[in-house]
Amino acid sequence: MSECIFCRIAAGEIPADIVANDDEFIAFRDLHPLAPTHVLVVPKRHLRSLDEIEAFGDAAAGRMLRFTAAAARSAGVATSGYRVVSNTGPDAGQEVDHLHWHIIGGGPLGGMV
Ligand code: 5GP
Ligand code: ZN
Repeated sequence: MSECIFCRIAAGEIPADIVANDDEFIAFRDLHPLAPTHVLVVPKRHLRSLDEIEAFGDAAAGRMLRFTAAAARSAGVATSGYRVVSNTGPDAGQEVDHLHWHIIGGGPLGGMV
């Protein structure tokens, strides 16, 4: 059994509030939301962070972006707008060492970036 929390969620070993799911990716609501809508997009293949994207391949990386836009539509924020963030490494405060994007939205987000 994997020690990685996101691998375990992807395998269905730990429950999550799933927004979108296919063979390669899963999107589920963050346990500690920072905005009215806060969804995590995770590839089912374990990669530590965006820094390992080369190992993923261009086609899979493209499908992850498309899946992310579809997950935002499923979460109901495509029209109102949203932000996609990927914390990568210590200075970004990455807590879970499995590549993921945050989709945050559901209200005005302010001007962080
Ligand atoms: P990071 O700081 O690594 O970019 O973000 C990790 C995110 O995963 C955090 O926002 C945290 O709330 C979320 N998280 C950590 N463990 C779990 C979990 O078991 N279930 C869900 N749904 N979210 C989690
Ligand atoms: Zn993992």
